[in-house]
Amino acid sequence: MNTSDLWERVVDNIKSSITPEAYSLWISPLKPLNFENNIFTLEVPNIYFSQWIVNNHQKNIETILSNSHGQPVTLEMKPQQDISSIIKIVGDTPEHIDNNNAPIIQKDQINPKYIFSGFIVGASNRFAHGCAEVVAKNPGKQFNPLFMYSGVGLGKTHLLHAIGNYIKQTTPNLKTLYATCEKFVTDYIESIRFDNTASIKRKYRDLDCLLIDDIQFLVGKEASQEEFFHMFNTLSTSEKQIVIVSDRPPKELEGIEERLISRLEWGIIADIQPPDLETRIAILHKKAEEERLYVPDDVILYIATQVKSNIRQLEGSLLKVTAFSLFTGTPLTVDSAQRILRDVIKPDGSAHITIENIQKVVADDFNIDMRDMKSKRRTDAIAFPRQIAMYLSRTLTDEFSTNAIGNAFGGRDHSTVMHACNKIKEKMNSDPYFNSKINQIIKKIRSME
Ligand code: ADP
Ligand code: MG
Repeated sequence: MNTSDLWERVVDNIKSSITPEAYSLWISPLKPLNFENNIFTLEVPNIYFSQWIVNNHQKNIETILSNSHGQPVTLEMKPQQDISSIIKIVGDTPEHIDNNNAPIIQKDQINPKYIFSGFIVGASNRFAHGCAEVVAKNPGKQFNPLFMYSGVGLGKTHLLHAIGNYIKQTTPNLKTLYATCEKFVTDYIESIRFDNTASIKRKYRDLDCLLIDDIQFLVGKEASQEEFFHMFNTLSTSEKQIVIVSDRPPKELEGIEERLISRLEWGIIADIQPPDLETRIAILHKKAEEERLYVPDDVILYIATQVKSNIRQLEGSLLKVTAFSLFTGTPLTVDSAQRILRDVIKPDGSAHITIENIQKVVADDFNIDMRDMKSKRRTDAIAFPRQIAMYLSRTLTDEFSTNAIGNAFGGRDHSTVMHACNKIKEKMNSDPYFNSKINQIIKKIRSME
C-alpha cells in the first residue's frame, strides 16, 4: 500500500470516531508526506498539532497503519511552520520547541514579512496605501517626502517596510535604509560621544531612500532635530526619497521646530483611519491564511465585530484564540473565543482601560515622566497633565472611586480628584482646541493593547 492509501485508511477510521468540527479542525489539515522503512511521516501545520495528535490519536493511528501494512509502523510528524509568534502571545513555550532556528529580525532592518501583497486595502487606508505604492515604484520622483500618520497598530510600519521591500526587490542598486527615529537619535548621540559625526552623515545622507519610523520620537530633542533637518535638506535637494511615519500630523508635533515641520509638510501627507468591519474581516482572513490557522467564519466575524480600533490587537486576538484552542484541544467556537478574549474585550467592545495606561498615554503626550503622575511636584507643566489623567481615569473607567483614583496618583485625596475633574471639564467646554486634544488622547488610550 502506498502512502496515500494508508492515510486514507486512517482517515476513514478516525472520521467515524470524532465530530465533524473536530475532524475539520484537526484532521483535514494533516498531510501524508512519506512512508519509508516502516516510518510514516505526516506534515502538520504546527507544533500544537503534533502535540494534539500525540495526546489523542498517535496510538490509534499507529495501530491502523501497522494493521494495514502488516508490520509495526511508527508515526512521525513534521511541523510546517515556526509558531514562535503564537507562543509569544499565549505566553507558554512548550519545552521541546526549539526556537533557535527562527530568523531573528532586527528592529532596525527591513522586515521581509511586511509587503504590499499582505496589506489589505479598505476605505480607511486606501490613500496611504496608494501613496506608498507610488513612492515604491518611483522613488524620489513624486510625493517627496511622503508623510504618513495614524493611531497605533493601523499599518504605518507595515507600509513603510513594504516600500523598502519593494524597492530592494525591483531596484536593488538603490541604497535604502529603514530606521526608527529612536535609532536615528541613538546614532546621533553616539556620533557626538565618539566625536565621529562623519559616521552619521555617511549612514543617513549617502542614500537613495530613507524610511523613518515614528518621527514623534524627535519631539523635545533639539540637537537631534538639527541633525535631522540638515540630513533632510541634503537628501531632498538631491531628489532622494524620504518617507516619514508619525503618530500624529506634522502640525501637532509640538516640540519640533517650525522649520522642520514645514519641511515635513512639503510633500504629501496621508493618514490612516481605523478599518471598517469589512476590512477587519478581510484582514483576519488574510492573517489566518498566512499563519495557516483554521478559523471558522463565525469566529472571525465575532473577533472583527469586537476589536475595532487596532489591527495589532485584532491579529493578537486571532492568534490567541487559535493557539488556545490548539493547545487545549478544544474546538474553536464563538463561545470559546468569547471566553478566551474576556480580558481583551470588554462587553461594550472597547479594550480594557487601566489607570496606568491612561497615565502612560498622557505622560507620553505631554512629554513628562511617568513618575510625575504620582509625584508631589506642582509646577503647571506637571500638575496639568496629571489633572487630565485624573479626569480621564474618572470618565473612562467605571470600577474606580475618586478615592481609588487619588491613591493611584500618589495618595491624593478625593477632593483633589474632584477638583481636577471639574477644572478639565470646564476647560474642555470653553476651549475647542483643548477639547479636540483630549479626544485624541482618549482615542489613543482606547487603542492601547
Ligand atoms: P503601526 O505602525 O501603525 O502601529 P503596524 O504597521 O505595526 O502598525 O501594524 C500592526 C499590525 O497590523 C502588523 O502586524 C501589520 O501587519 C498589521 N496590519 C496593519 N494594517 C494592515 C492591513 N491593512 N492589512 C493587513 N495587515 C495589517
Ligand atoms: Mg509602527
